[in-house]
Amino acid sequence: MTDARRALPSVNTLLESPSVRPLLDRAPRGVVVDAIRRAIDAARSSPSSAPADDAGWAEAVASVVNATTRPSLRRVLNGTGVVLHTNLGRAPLPAVAIDAIARVASGFSNLEYDIDAGARGSRYTHCAALLRELTGAEDALVVNNCAAALVLALNTLADGRDAIVSRGELVEIGGSFRIPDIMAKSGARLVEVGTTNRTHVEDYRRAIGAETGIVVKVHRSNFELSGFVAEASAAELSEIATERRIPLLHDLGSGLMLALDDYGLAGEPTAADAIRAGATIVTMSGDKLLGGPQAGLILGTREALDRIRKNPLTRSYRVDKLTLAALEATLALYRDPPRARREIPALAQLTATVGVLRARAERMADDLQSSRVDVIDTLASVGGGAFPTARIPSVGLAISGHADAIERALRFAEPALIGRVFDGRVIVDLRTIFPEDDRQVIMTLRTALT
Ligand SMILES: *Cc1c(COP(=O)(O)O)cnc(C)c1O
Repeated sequence: MTDARRALPSVNTLLESPSVRPLLDRAPRGVVVDAIRRAIDAARSSPSSAPADDAGWAEAVASVVNATTRPSLRRVLNGTGVVLHTNLGRAPLPAVAIDAIARVASGFSNLEYDIDAGARGSRYTHCAALLRELTGAEDALVVNNCAAALVLALNTLADGRDAIVSRGELVEIGGSFRIPDIMAKSGARLVEVGTTNRTHVEDYRRAIGAETGIVVKVHRSNFELSGFVAEASAAELSEIATERRIPLLHDLGSGLMLALDDYGLAGEPTAADAIRAGATIVTMSGDKLLGGPQAGLILGTREALDRIRKNPLTRSYRVDKLTLAALEATLALYRDPPRARREIPALAQLTATVGVLRARAERMADDLQSSRVDVIDTLASVGGGAFPTARIPSVGLAISGHADAIERALRFAEPALIGRVFDGRVIVDLRTIFPEDDRQVIMTLRTALT
């Protein structure tokens, strides 16, 4: 037996020691005892790194206690420059949405109670009027996410029948979500028309027959087709669908509510555009460009929405009251577009000027006083399956040195700062950092630089 192993303290000795004992004020006894055991085990299996004294043991035990007790789901700082980053939780909520959640979560609510009538009501009424007002749709329904919205709409309107979709729109959204797979699960039979690069109105017209339940148009989300391409517009498809008396479903995905052309982001239809073009049903996400909570929005005709509400499957995608509270507050901001652009964090980040970002970056670099920190021009992006090829001019801090080690140090900080490594440097893009977090970023960078 080595000296280090012989010198290992007992669990009880450590628990009673003046430097470990105070941990009992921060964590339950069982957690501290378990952490002590793990610290002793670690010292036994790696004697050379065993703590040398009481303070060393306290530090080892505290670090295990911290790792055990900190939440699994926690805040991070997004330095990636991707505004709607699915891995980082997509849209941050506006302050009014957080307030609305707090009000509804802390007590009882009229979630399914009609206060005027003094009788049972429906949770599905809560955002419907606002969605009608903002998009021009006859009716609206909110479910858990856009994938659920799509399955529900297809299952209700085309179960056991053909769903016609262009080969150029059979998208994989990411992870395990492929449009053709989702469509198959809905019970609709996928009928592909056209080719990868070109699909014409005539292709749809020829495919429509007695078995056709629905025509589907899917937003391409995360890629663009260019070159020798053709596609049928939503308005053209609506014309054929109306003529043949079949519904048209337009899966918009991103859920743009306000045109962003003035900010260099052009070419995506808003929800109101999609309704105006004549879709029977429009589906979209709540936490992409709309900038609200995770949700799936189904907009469309009263008749189609009535049928969807009656589908028993709707119950399994039932939206939660916290989501409805946050969504209603977020949607209400859109009644005043300049206010929506200011207060919806995703829109504020997308529309911030390069001048403002550069001034912040220069202040931060001045503060850091390090020859290893440079202010550089960067290109940010929207993310979340919207404006896939748009690159937004932005500004970042570039940190020189051992890039992988720096990236890791930033990621292990609390809160973690997620940057990216480019050209041998770590880049922290300021477009996705909130100005109120600049001080935190400075502190994290300062620590990583030493
Ligand atoms: C993102 C996206 C979806 C899925 O939306 P979720 O809300 O993540 O379920 C569906 N369709 C399109 C076109 C999308 O871009």
